[in-house]
Amino acid sequence: MVVAGLDVGGTKTLAAAVAVPGEPLDGALDGRAVVDGSIVATVRRPTNIGSASVVLASITGALEAVAEAAGVAPDGFAAVGVGIPGLVDRGAGSVRHAVNLGLGDDPLPLAEHLGRLAGAPVVVDNDVNAAAVGAAAALSCTGDLAYLSVGTGVAAGFLLGGRIRRGAHGAAGEIGHLPVAPGGPLCECGQRGCLEAVASGTAIARRWSAGDGEASAASALLAAAAAGDGMAAEIRDEVAGHLAGAVALIAQTVDPEVIVLGGGVAEAGSSLLSAVVDALHSRADRSPVLAALDLARRVALVPEGVPAGALGAALLARAGLFRSSRGPSPAGSAHGDCGVGVDGTSATTDGSERAAGEAPRPGVDPP
Ligand SMILES: [Zn+2]
Repeated sequence: MVVAGLDVGGTKTLAAAVAVPGEPLDGALDGRAVVDGSIVATVRRPTNIGSASVVLASITGALEAVAEAAGVAPDGFAAVGVGIPGLVDRGAGSVRHAVNLGLGDDPLPLAEHLGRLAGAPVVVDNDVNAAAVGAAAALSCTGDLAYLSVGTGVAAGFLLGGRIRRGAHGAAGEIGHLPVAPGGPLCECGQRGCLEAVASGTAIARRWSAGDGEASAASALLAAAAAGDGMAAEIRDEVAGHLAGAVALIAQTVDPEVIVLGGGVAEAGSSLLSAVVDALHSRADRSPVLAALDLARRVALVPEGVPAGALGAALLARAGLFRSSRGPSPAGSAHGDCGVGVDGTSATTDGSERAAGEAPRPGVDPP
């Protein structure tokens, strides 16, 4: 069967159609269900923002477009998953307070609207959580994984023991507003020097401009730094230093096997990963405690071309189909293979190159 996953961002919506097994799988991995996913089509659409109806039209348009690209009817998906920023009510399938989308206090009942179009169950989850699930699939990671999303904002998602760690109030991983630079720039949240205020795409755009034909300030900055621009290299290394600090924070808090850098800034160039790895090495050189954590080896990027958020949303939608039939999940092992090699290189390649049925095999419990 084919499920759809949508990754809704403030500027673009990425949709993927993913072929998955159509029945619950007993082939347990560490006592967890194994989810096989295979991307059969992806589309990227601009997200129109400003009001609930405009956002909704963008999302339904992306769903229709990926259905067409995959050669199925809009109501031909077995389930639809949506990863979206903001306060998500998973039970109601709604979202509110998505600042980047212009959504305020009124809940946007996404599952209800999309369900009418798709004629299938719709799962709505936080975009970073969905991306963590997709990254685990792309990296064939069965152990604990953290996903550090560096885009318009900064946030982390945690996949621990095969489950998304949401926290008591759904706020686990909201590390973007941890002050990391004393006396740094004023953040929208009212504090100074938040991680998000010094190491996000927005923060980079305040210090570096994208030229004609350049996708973003981050990609322009990384390209200029690579070309030998001293000022660009300085800003890149400063950003990478803050991200290295976030990696260390995550590692020392939840100790995952791998910490994946994702989001628009991370996708702007693998040279950012190199800069973060360099920063982790210099921290380790100064501290035997940090050296023992071997952090430089534990960071990775999502394999190029894999839409982690859309893939993860699709896998969550599939898991949702079997939520009621599987009963409580046994606790997963904290240890597993995450396909990460030396200094952040990934042992696995682009998931989109896999043939149908040959997909990554993460352990993903129903949401
Ligand atoms: Zn802040």
